[in-house]
Amino acid sequence: MTDTYTNLVNSGFTKTLAKRLGLPRPAVLRRHRPGAPLVPGPVLVVNDDASGPDADALAEQLLGWDLDVHRHAGHETRFGAVVVVLTEAADPQALGEPLLTAGSVLRGLAPGGRVLTVARTATGATSAPAAAARAAVPGIIRSLGKEMRGGATANALLLEADVPVGAPSVAGGLRFLLSGRSAYVDGQTLTVTTTDGTTPDDWDRPLDGRVALVTGAARGIGAQIARVLARDGAQVVVVDVPAAGEGLSRVANEVRGTALQLDITAEDATARIVEHVRTRYGHLDLVVHNAGITRDKLLANMKPDAWSSVLAVNLAAPLRLTTELLASDVLGEHPRVVCLASTSGIGGTRGQTNYAASKAGIIGMVHAMAPDLHGTGGTINAVAPGFIETDMTARMPFASREVARRINSLQQGGQPVDVAEAIAFLASPQAGGVNGQTLRVCGQLMVGA
Ligand code: NAD
Repeated sequence: MTDTYTNLVNSGFTKTLAKRLGLPRPAVLRRHRPGAPLVPGPVLVVNDDASGPDADALAEQLLGWDLDVHRHAGHETRFGAVVVVLTEAADPQALGEPLLTAGSVLRGLAPGGRVLTVARTATGATSAPAAAARAAVPGIIRSLGKEMRGGATANALLLEADVPVGAPSVAGGLRFLLSGRSAYVDGQTLTVTTTDGTTPDDWDRPLDGRVALVTGAARGIGAQIARVLARDGAQVVVVDVPAAGEGLSRVANEVRGTALQLDITAEDATARIVEHVRTRYGHLDLVVHNAGITRDKLLANMKPDAWSSVLAVNLAAPLRLTTELLASDVLGEHPRVVCLASTSGIGGTRGQTNYAASKAGIIGMVHAMAPDLHGTGGTINAVAPGFIETDMTARMPFASREVARRINSLQQGGQPVDVAEAIAFLASPQAGGVNGQTLRVCGQLMVGA
């Protein structure tokens, strides 16, 4: 589905008119294009006094990606990104200088630029002032996300206590959040939980040799996930109900994958998946639980079927499939599971108690199953999209759809590719140290959460 308003205010005569009338003009987001620069300009790295060695290490990392790295704010420079390193900040006072330095260059930040704080989670702090400094960082980022313009975003990369800045997933998270792959991730935190993970040989094909299965892949977000995983090197099995068979075959052909017509709530769903991947590929590395349905009703009007069908597809099936696949011997080394949650499960949406239950349940599921996956050398995470332009949201009444797509910091709906990029990142070797997390891809939705 296209966002006609955003297209109009960004092209030709209507762009000038919108400017004159002072109408809101959602920016065209900087999305990943093969061969495009990772960041749209030089990168400024600043830090508090205690975090100097970590800032040096991260600056080295950025130099290794051929970026133009500056350690001092030259106000005449148009930076493409600012990285604020606060990993060792011992008290809230330490935050002021580096953040104000970052702020001093924000007016000149390139369109589609990035602000990224690298800090630690509050849980491992050994003193109250350190815990306060750490807890302040997400608050800063949530506010700054709302101040960014021109499609620029602000996010925080958080490290658990025993994760050094040299860990593979710190580099992986840094690269993802700086790149156009995170175009619709704004005002969020991404936590690196362990030192697991590896740096890929080829950053453009991190999934080379991996076998992925995507449910609900005949259209919408699922189809786009299949395309992005294939672009990143994976062999992809696409799954959808028999009624969607035509679309499913189209997607399978497009990604040079295989199609499996299957209702994921069927009793024999796992057995059929295991048989399919075993005969075609020998094993399975990555499962994306994307299939989902809505049956919106106020709880006062909710019929039992509307409740149970949504819970069955969106939550019970991913729970059962994951448990049964883990118990089978079909999963390869370092298996990855990524589930689709939703901001409805975080902030709540009127008329969606059933859907919100299923999506909040997914967040609980990935948290609870993270140790099981860790035990196998793998990870399980969720992505929580906000308003994404798909058939599902096209069914919303016009007025609520128009409101829903504007009430976020980027003033527009996301594209299926934005969700797919986040999933491909969580499935990649460089995200092996991110486990049990839910990453929101919502343009910093302002309602609810
Ligand atoms: P969609 O309705 O366009 O596609 C969903 C696909 O899942 C369809 O192809 C459908 O046939 C398939 N499916 C449904 N039940 C199935 C079953 N029992 N077995 C196998 N396949 C089944 O939806 P979408 O907008 O692409 O959403 C994809 C996922 O993202 C869903 O989990 C949805 O809840 C989630 N999500 C979407 C949005 C959004 O704004 N579109 C926001 C938040 C979360």
